Amino acid sequence: MAKIKENSFIYADPQKCLGCKNCGLACALAHAGCDLQTAVAGKRQLQPRNSVVKAGDMFMPIQCRQCEDAPCAQACPTGAIRQEDGLVKINEQNCVGCKVCSMVCPFGAIVVTPVPNAEPNRKTKRGKALKCDLCFSSVRKDGQLTCACVEACPTQAVMLVDPEGYRTKILEARAKELAKAHSVAKQKRA
Ligand code: SF4
Ligand code: SF4
Repeated sequence: MAKIKENSFIYADPQKCLGCKNCGLACALAHAGCDLQTAVAGKRQLQPRNSVVKAGDMFMPIQCRQCEDAPCAQACPTGAIRQEDGLVKINEQNCVGCKVCSMVCPFGAIVVTPVPNAEPNRKTKRGKALKCDLCFSSVRKDGQLTCACVEACPTQAVMLVDPEGYRTKILEARAKELAKAHSVAKQKRA
């Protein structure tokens, strides 16, 4: 099975984002495990793991950046948040809903929500922290890893970024520019 590359994360380009929130709906449905009609008919709680935020005249979906030295994991008092398999994961069973993670996250990427249909005799509501889990690496028909939000965005504003691949592309682009400049200078000297 294809595995997510270490350090990958979702990035959204505000220059391309329309603010349509398709990414959020796709995310919520992917995690509910059903389509929209089924969710509406069954009154399912739909909870996206990103937030489309308006900043001036631009929109930008914000979600977890899968931090290396993740503040949320450092702060969680129950050890529910860990870096595993190349991303930061929340073990919902160990989450007590204290919201410390959401307070320390520099991106506001964690939301703590009540669990629907929790045991009725509990003294307090059951809550759990939710954030982008890269859909646990969905696989497209062509075998490429992808995520629900990436597939749903009509303008390709949302990307699954592999930092090493991204760095390689930048290096190649700069190398081409330098090689071109060098060859022009050489022709002028000739
Ligand atoms: S990558 Fe998956 S979990 Fe993360 S925002 Fe997109 S759809 Fe949601
Ligand atoms: S939830 Fe926030 S602090 Fe935790 S890994 Fe994601 S971006 Fe970093």
